[in-house]
Amino acid sequence: MLFKYNLDAPKQNFYNITSQIRESVAKSGITSGIAVVYCLHTTAGITINENADPDVVRDLLFALDKTYPDHPEFRHAEGNSAAHLKASTIGSSVTVIIENSKPLLGTWQGIYFCEFDPPRKRTFYVKVM
Ligand code: ZN
Repeated sequence: MLFKYNLDAPKQNFYNITSQIRESVAKSGITSGIAVVYCLHTTAGITINENADPDVVRDLLFALDKTYPDHPEFRHAEGNSAAHLKASTIGSSVTVIIENSKPLLGTWQGIYFCEFDPPRKRTFYVKVM
């Protein structure tokens, strides 16, 4: 089954979407399988990281900004090449194992939609099989 979600992303941030993935798996009725979380954007990404200490995602954003600063040498006319670089580094999907009707996630793992070119209205999909 395919589930579509809209996300309002007013600022560069890691938006926790774990509850939407749990909801998709529950609605699907799948007891053992996989869920693919995927976004259709080129300046946003999907990742799994720590959900306990908010400083972790803050530090990830800090490091991505340091790694990919804006350069006057960039040619992309839209002016958001740094956001494209961050999106390719993070990737556009994650796959999660489903067991006992739940996504198999570690205690400290959360699933995040990563916005790099705000403000945007975004969409992501969860395919449960
Ligand atoms: Zn662009």
